[in-house]
Amino acid sequence: MALPQRKTDIGPPHYKQFLPPVIQKNYGDWKYHEVLTPGSMVHVAESGDKLWTVRMASPRILSTDTIREICALAEKYCDGYLRFTSRNNVEFLVSDEKKVAPLMKELKDQKRTVGGIGPMISNVVHTQGWVHCHSACTDASGLVKSMMDELHDYFTTKELPNKVRLAVACCVNMCGAVHCSDIAIVAVHTKMPEINHDNFKNMCEMPTVIGACPTRAISPDPAKKSVKINPDKCMYCGNCFTVCPPISIKNPERDGVAIVVGGKVSSLRSNPKFSKLVIPYISNEPPRWPKVVAAVKHIVDVYAKNAKKHERVGEWIERIGWERFFSLTGIDFTFQSIDDFTFMRDTMRTASTFKW
Ligand code: SF4
Ligand code: SF4
Repeated sequence: MALPQRKTDIGPPHYKQFLPPVIQKNYGDWKYHEVLTPGSMVHVAESGDKLWTVRMASPRILSTDTIREICALAEKYCDGYLRFTSRNNVEFLVSDEKKVAPLMKELKDQKRTVGGIGPMISNVVHTQGWVHCHSACTDASGLVKSMMDELHDYFTTKELPNKVRLAVACCVNMCGAVHCSDIAIVAVHTKMPEINHDNFKNMCEMPTVIGACPTRAISPDPAKKSVKINPDKCMYCGNCFTVCPPISIKNPERDGVAIVVGGKVSSLRSNPKFSKLVIPYISNEPPRWPKVVAAVKHIVDVYAKNAKKHERVGEWIERIGWERFFSLTGIDFTFQSIDDFTFMRDTMRTASTFKW
């Protein structure tokens, strides 16, 4: 029987058909841009044409009703044109300057949050959490909502020395940007996985499971037709669970989050950096995660007070030194922040320069 006809391998629609006419006309010929307010900017083309952008926060997980409401605003003020940014903000693209103020007013009337442009905190890049992923050891949407409620002023009005990029990942797979953000939350397990040996032989591929462990803690257990885990080597990454569901690592009482800081992706002034572990564990406290939120807010406040203009969090820390970062923030330095993995030597201090 012939397969029914179906369209395949057609790729995404070409992006150029969705560009406002002013961008189509001036494509590649932009002269400069200017930030007008924390939520608006203007791009000026070589031809003199202008395009105004109004940026609105979004919680990323949106209902179709909300998307329709956003589309209605774009129809009214932007001839139907808008875009989503790489941090999941919504940007209204306005070709007519007279429509910028009315759009801003309507967004305010609708209690939408406008901001995130310039040296501020923009949206938090985050993951699926308990909404949708089987390996989450914290929630993403709930945690992000709690954080952004507390940091709201830094999105809308309050300037920082430079932009501060926040990210959340709900397990150490780190979907998204936690490894390269100024301040990020990454969820962690803190207990050994438990193995359901009866299911192992039916559901798992032994070489894959053994190969999945970064510390080689897993070895065959022939008597059980399963595997065993060396408790001295396991560091609770959960990778074995990813490839073999009968190795269960979830533990509602002990799962929590760690905080890493100092990462960035741009090459401006200094090279991109990975973020580094400063708080190894805070327990999950849904629905508002007060300790996590307070810790993030505290780091932002200390950075805002002490960093020089234009310094990103990681640049500030490298200038003052990590020991000074810990003393300024009052964060306890624990052994967990000392690297003991493959490239640990590069993270050791191999000089006598340090501050008491
Ligand atoms: S970070 Fe982990 S738990 Fe979160 S969405 Fe990615 S794989 Fe799932
Ligand atoms: S949790 Fe990670 S370290 Fe522990 S056994 Fe599984 S893969 Fe290995």
